[in-house]
Formats: sequence, structure tokens, C-alpha cells
Amino acid sequence: MPAHQAAHADFATLRQERIEELDSTLTLFEHRATGARVLSVRNADDNKVFGITFPTPPEDSTGLPHIMEHSVLAGSERYPVKEPFVELVKSSLNTFLNAMTYPDRTCYPVASQNLKDLDNLVDVYMDAVLHPLLPRRILEQEGWHYEVSSGGSGSASVLSLKGVVFNEMKGVYSNPDALLGKYSRCYLLPETPYAHDSGGDPRSIPELTYEQFRSFHSRFYHPSNALVYLSGDDEEGARLDLVARWFSGYGKGPRAPAIPLQPRWDGPRVVRERYAAGEDTSAAKSMLSVNWLLADHMESERSLGLTILSHILLGTPASPLRKALIDSGLGEGLTASGLDDEIREASFSVGLKGIDASSASALEDLIHETLGNLARQGIDPDTVAAGINSVEFVLRENNTGSYPRGLVLLLRCLPNWLYTGDPFVPLAFETPLRSIRRRLERGERYFEELIRRDLVENRHALVVLLEPDKELGAKLEGEERERLQATRSGLTAEELREVSSRAQELELFQKTPDPPEALARIPSLGLEDMERGIRRIPLDLVPQGPATIVVHEIPTNGVVYVDVGFNLHGLPGELLPYLPLYSRCLTEMGTSRTDFVGLQQRIGRDTGGVSASIMISPVVGRQDAAAWLFLRGKCLAGKVDKLTEILSEILASVRLDDRERFLQMARESKARFESSVVPAGHSLVAARLASKVDEAGWVRERIGGTDYLFWVRALLGRVSAEWESVRGALEAIHAMVVTRQGAVCNVTVSTADRAAVLERFGGFLAALQDRPAVRTSWNPEWRRHDEGLTAPAQVNFAGKGGNLYDCGYRLHGSIFAILNYLRTTWIWERVRVQGGAYGGMVQFDPISGSFGYLSYRDPNVLKTLETYDGSAGYLAEAKISPEELRKSVIGAIGDMDPCLLPDAQGYTSLRRYLAGVTDQERQRLRDELLATTDADFRALAGALRLMAERGIVVALGSPERIREANAALGERMRVTAVL
Ligand SMILES: [Zn+2]
Repeated sequence: MPAHQAAHADFATLRQERIEELDSTLTLFEHRATGARVLSVRNADDNKVFGITFPTPPEDSTGLPHIMEHSVLAGSERYPVKEPFVELVKSSLNTFLNAMTYPDRTCYPVASQNLKDLDNLVDVYMDAVLHPLLPRRILEQEGWHYEVSSGGSGSASVLSLKGVVFNEMKGVYSNPDALLGKYSRCYLLPETPYAHDSGGDPRSIPELTYEQFRSFHSRFYHPSNALVYLSGDDEEGARLDLVARWFSGYGKGPRAPAIPLQPRWDGPRVVRERYAAGEDTSAAKSMLSVNWLLADHMESERSLGLTILSHILLGTPASPLRKALIDSGLGEGLTASGLDDEIREASFSVGLKGIDASSASALEDLIHETLGNLARQGIDPDTVAAGINSVEFVLRENNTGSYPRGLVLLLRCLPNWLYTGDPFVPLAFETPLRSIRRRLERGERYFEELIRRDLVENRHALVVLLEPDKELGAKLEGEERERLQATRSGLTAEELREVSSRAQELELFQKTPDPPEALARIPSLGLEDMERGIRRIPLDLVPQGPATIVVHEIPTNGVVYVDVGFNLHGLPGELLPYLPLYSRCLTEMGTSRTDFVGLQQRIGRDTGGVSASIMISPVVGRQDAAAWLFLRGKCLAGKVDKLTEILSEILASVRLDDRERFLQMARESKARFESSVVPAGHSLVAARLASKVDEAGWVRERIGGTDYLFWVRALLGRVSAEWESVRGALEAIHAMVVTRQGAVCNVTVSTADRAAVLERFGGFLAALQDRPAVRTSWNPEWRRHDEGLTAPAQVNFAGKGGNLYDCGYRLHGSIFAILNYLRTTWIWERVRVQGGAYGGMVQFDPISGSFGYLSYRDPNVLKTLETYDGSAGYLAEAKISPEELRKSVIGAIGDMDPCLLPDAQGYTSLRRYLAGVTDQERQRLRDELLATTDADFRALAGALRLMAERGIVVALGSPERIREANAALGERMRVTAVL
């Protein structure tokens, strides 16, 4: 049926447009009865997306929008179970399932390649947002509640605060980078809703009342306030039917008030704030950002222009503003990220972390001076050309990584859609791009003018200085304790009993299983809907002398992806920690022919990017790991010659002797790592645990775990004191690693370009140096004892793990369903719902058997470890209904078949090849998974019982929490301060 006839009686068609560069037709509808706005995107993408968004501007910092986002997904009229969301996680083939609270809106997107599955997801989400149950206990569980515990022998009972969002936000407020971003936004827009924190300030969350909670839903979660989005290869008529069904019976309701514009200042402002720092003062430094408020919703050319400008100024290590900041030595690494155009008024931010507060004004001056010079003297035309090409490549390639492409479109068009009613403008890039190019050809100083008008002469500027405070953590804890004591002493005995019984009621509710008939109402697919066969990725091996070209012939839309790989298992073990910095040197230090700015300009102008990365993996049937260095690049097929020239030049003549540049990279690496410790504490714990299990884990810890952090801190001193030995190590790595003996060249290419591209890479490999390849054994020193890691965190991360095969387990495909079940039942309920942690996970590597339980932003340690140990008993006794079993299998199938874009397909296939994972083995595991029975659950339970006895514990938390946990564990943990 032609597009213009695809109308529906309940909807008015407002506008339709074909956007060639997205190969999509977009139609904007209005639902007549309610005024709901619906954007329908039709294209060939089988990864279909649905999203419903409500503007939800906050009026205070109680986190109401965020708590509501959690709560609507915790039981609705049609699906009155505790966690419909978790039931979907468990049992769908979704390629995306989440909900996000922004500073002014709440967005509920789902995606699937299976239409029936998508319909199920939409059904549960629509009922959740329109008809949630929202009893008081859900506010208590997701937001906040008091718990009463006895204060020890004879003393009065004490109150404590619990709640999922409460803990989640304590984690956010422990993260200085997140705090800097939050303060910048709040203070830049003080007379708007953005002055509040829609996520919730842990100090304000307990002020939220049940009445506010209920009325918020009726004010904002009405179809009249909704923006509905659908995209993919499914039928538009069916989409409109679906929306019409859900919105039938509704009339016009309230819309969120428009967000006011911030009145402009006549001069810059400065604010100073503090963050809670740890005991290690060397890691505790200040951060500073300069922020400018730009325009209200911008027309498309200016918006694209500012995106490109942001890339020109900050996008690569050679970008002039970024380089000036790093070269100054005033700080350790960049913070704040350039253009932010996600809210009503766009802003631009830049700054450094790891600075001394005393150099704040020098840094501020440097930023203004650099921008002033660029505006006056002009930007290097090669930098401009590289910047435009890079942004254009990103737009054309449309490589959204693990995100569905349709979801990225939604997120890109939402701000404009919200504030101007027009979702089309931010999606079409061809016209504004052409216009910007024309201006440059005419000799206009286009980007210089943007810098002058929007930054240099912009009076609405804000400087935020965030300083460390060693006492602040204790002070915040003390204040919370005092508030709780004051509340406690104001309660009569009767009221206290009431608080206590409410907490018990909540606990009882959490522990009571959902009625099977309610669970059965959640729609899910049947096993008959599952594809029996694995998804195969084409792979041919083309021997090239002592090297191999690995080819994946798949449609890539004219882009060529290449990964040139060298085996790292010939390096002596003590050189391994150099690898992350060595690999950065490859693209960020220059070559004997081109300095690093020139090299970055060429990469930007002629390719879609070149970077180096390290791949470590266990190998089937071996004790030692696969360890590879990859130089990864992409370009349009017509530019393969340029790409191979760049790769050859790097490999033949990279410079490794620039001490200043190396020192900058080492400082940045340290700063980046330190700022990830608290927000990503579970990754640190996971790496530490895995390092005790197999060689791959051991290597990863040395190049990316706590060991690496300690190593890089020591390295900073060595760069000054013994540079020659550091440089010698880098040269030694390069000499040992780069050889065509055993090299692989992984090429992902369309059929039409294959022959020409392979010929070019054949020549490239033949020209590489030819040194004998060696293999070294690393003999890891295993540290198989319990450990405590400390950092200034208001929350903990608890892990326990070991090798599951050493516990007698034999790999069977059913394990993926069983772990899916365990994660979404026992671990979720105990660690998150009852424990108050933000999350709990179970990780397993089927190749080596490395296994680990992890918790995320957890108020507990011991209670969580007990939950882990209880897994075996839970699995052994669980009465698993056929429906539960089916759902667990389907969820696991979904995880097995992620939706991969062409570059990720090629790289995934290469990883499997190097790890010895065959398609036959993958098919066997899938067959076994599809045939999972209860008996398989008992078999794993046996192994997990041994894991409870033998597993190793690693926990990260504040010094006080780790001390308490260690005392209870009989001082078995060796304690190390990380920050
Ligand atoms: Zn949340």
C-alpha cells in the first residue's frame, strides 16, 4: 500500500518525509482523542524499536521521576506481579529493554528482531506506564523506607534507610565526575527545572511522600503527554492499531508545562563544591570545568556545526583545545565532554581532572586564551577537514554498537521533538552538511565564528571547581545518622512499632512468590518460536605466506573493516603492563615521518578511525590464554590504499621516544582508572576475582585491573627517573610483537569489494617485517586468597568466585538457562529487592570455567556473600515449573544471539576463531540449552555447593565497611587501599 494511504481513523497525519540518508520514511501522527504524538519510522531494519516517552520535569531533588521510572515497572493492572520487567528480562529475545530518566523526561524503549516478541514487550510496557499499581510498598522498596534494628544489648533500637534508588544515587554521589556534571547543569540553569536532580539527591529522597508519588503519575503519565516512537520493517497499520488500542477510552489530559528558558547572565559565575575523597591524598585532586549556555533549540545547520566543532576542539588527542590542556601539565585528564544538546538549551563544557586547586585560575585562563587564539588566528584547515570527515563518517556508517539503530534515532530526535514538536530536523544531515562544506569552500571562517559567538563572547559562562574533602564522607554519614536519630527520638513507641511492622510487611511481600496464575499472564514466546540453528558468520581463511587473512564477506554498505593482529604470547610477563600505553603510542605519538597531530589529521581525513586494542581470551582445551594486539581501522572501500599506508607507516616507524607525550598518556590513564574505581567497582572486583582463576584473567588484571593501577602509579615516577628503561621496554615490545610470522589480518568486506581489498592487504602483509615468532610461558603467580579493596565509596561491591570445572562441573548448554534463572530469581530478589543493592550478577566463561558472583552498589557485604552461598540450596530445592524453565531457556537464547552490526560480526567471529570455539560446539550448546530439564539444575547445584566452600571472596567498599566485613570473616581478607 502506498505510504500516503497508510492512515488510520484515530490518527491525523501531521507530516511525512523520506530521509534518503537514513533510507527511511518518517510519518508524524497525532492521536485525535488525546493529542498523543506518534512518530513512525519505516525502513528495512529488522531490529524493531518501540518507545514511549513522557516529559517529567522535576520540581525538587527527591528523585520522584526516577523512582517513578522504577516503580511503574513493578506491577500493573494486567500484570500484577512483583517485577514484570524482570519477567521480560528472563524470557524475551529483546535486543534492548530498559528505561531511562533524563533531567526532564522519562523514556521507556524496547527492541526485538522478533515481531511477536516486540508485541509482548510493548504490551507489558504500555500496561506498566498507563496502569501501574503503585502501592505504598513499591515507593518504599524502590524509593526509600526505614528499617528498625536493635541497637545492641539494652540500648534503644535504631533506624536505617533503605531503597533501590536511594542506594543507586548514593553510588552516583560517590562519583566525582558525575557530581561535576550534575553541578555544572544545576548551576548553569538555576532558574529552570534543571536546577533540581531528577535522579534524586540521597539527602532529599527521604522527603518524598506517597501523596506526591501518586499525583505525579496522574499528572504526567497520560497519553496526552506522551511521545510514542516505532521503527523497523513491520507494518505501519498494525503499529497504529496497537497504539489506538492502548489509548482508547482516554480523552484530553494534562501536558507537562513547557520548560522555561534560563534568563541570560551579563557576566560569568564561579562555584566551588566538594566531593568525598579517600585516605590516599595523592589520588585526591580537584576538578574544574568551564561551561557555556548555548542557544535554545537550534536550527539544523548550527546544531551540526556545533557537533563538528566539538569534535574539532576535543575529539582526538590532537584536537587543539584538548592538546593545549593536556600539554599544559595542569591536570591529569580531560573531564566534561564538549557539546551537550540533550536538554532544552544546549551547553558546551570543557575541563580537567587531577588538578591542584591553586592552578584553577591558570587553567581557566588557558581555556579562554586557547579559544580566543583559535577564533582570531584560525583553526588549522587540516584539522577542520579531519573533523568534518570524521563526523560525516559516523553519520553515514550509523554504527550504533550494541544499541539498535532505531533506538539511536529515537534518542537523537527526542530533544527537538519535545521542545519544538519537530522530530525530523536532527535526523536529516545531508543538507546542513552540504551547506557547511559550501561555506568553508567560500572561505568563510565558519567554525572560528562559532567559537567567537558561542564561547568566547558568551557571557553566560560558569566555572565549577570541585575540590576533594577527606572529611566529607564521614560528615555525610554523620548527618544521615543524626537525622535518623532525630526521627527515631520523635517517634512514640506506637509509631515505632508501626514503622517496624511496615518494614516487615515489605520484607514479607518481597519474599512471597508471585501467584503462578499471575506470572502466567506475562506474554512470552514458545520454544517453537526459537530458531534451532545458531547464527553463523561467514569466515574464510586465506593463507598469505606465514600470515593469514581472515575474511568475513557480509554486506557492509561500502565500508571496509580491518583488524591487523599480532600474537602477544611471546612477550616476557613483566612487559605485559606496558601494553595499554604501548598500544596508545601506536596512534598517539606519531611516526618518524609524521608528528602525532599530522597522523591524527590523516586518520580523520582519510578513514573512519584507526585505533589499537588488546584481546585476551581463554582458549578451548588449553591452560594458556590467547593474547593479541590489534591495530583496527575502517574506511570507505575507495580509500583502502590510504588506510594501508597509514597502518604500514605506524608499524614500520612509530615513535616511542617522546617522553612528555608518554607522561601525559600515563597520567591520563591513571586519572581515568581512578575515576572509574567507585562507579565501576564491580568491574574491578570481577577482574581481581578472575585473576585468581585462569591465565586470561591473570593477564587482564595486569593490564586493566587494580594491579595495573598500582603499576601505572609507580610508572609515573619511573618516567622521570629512568626514562631510558621505560623507552627500552616499549621498543622491546614493538620489536618482539610486530612480525608477519603468525600475523592475522581480519577483513570484513562486501562481496563487491572483496577481491580488490584482499589484494591490497596481501601486499600490506608481505611488506611487514619478518622476525621469528616466539612463545613464552608466563607462569602466573596465583594469589588465591580472599581480599578486601578499599575506596571512598558510600556503597560496596561484593564478589565471590572460582573455577566451576574444578568444582566438578562439566559444560552443558543448560547452564546458560540456569544462570539466567538464578540471576533473575534468587540473586535479584535477595541482593537487589531485599538487600537494597542496585544489582547482582553471575558471570561465567564457558571456555575456562571462570565463574563469579558480583553485586553492584550494595549496602551489604556479608549478607550478599550468604546469598551467593545459598544459590546451591536454592537451585537444588527450586520447584521449576515448565513455564519457568521455558522462559529461562528463551532468555538465554536471546543472550546467545545478540544483534551485531557488520564490524562486530567480523570481530566476534575472529575472537571465536582465536579462542578455538567452533560452530559445531556452539550448535551443541544450543541444542543442549533448548533441551534443558530440571535434572540439569540439580547438577549445577552440586558444583555451586563446592563453590560456596572453595570460592574466593573479593569485596570493595569504604575502609570501615571492609573492616567490619573482615572481622566477621575471621580476618581472612588481605586488605588493600585502592584510593
Ligand atoms: Zn535507577
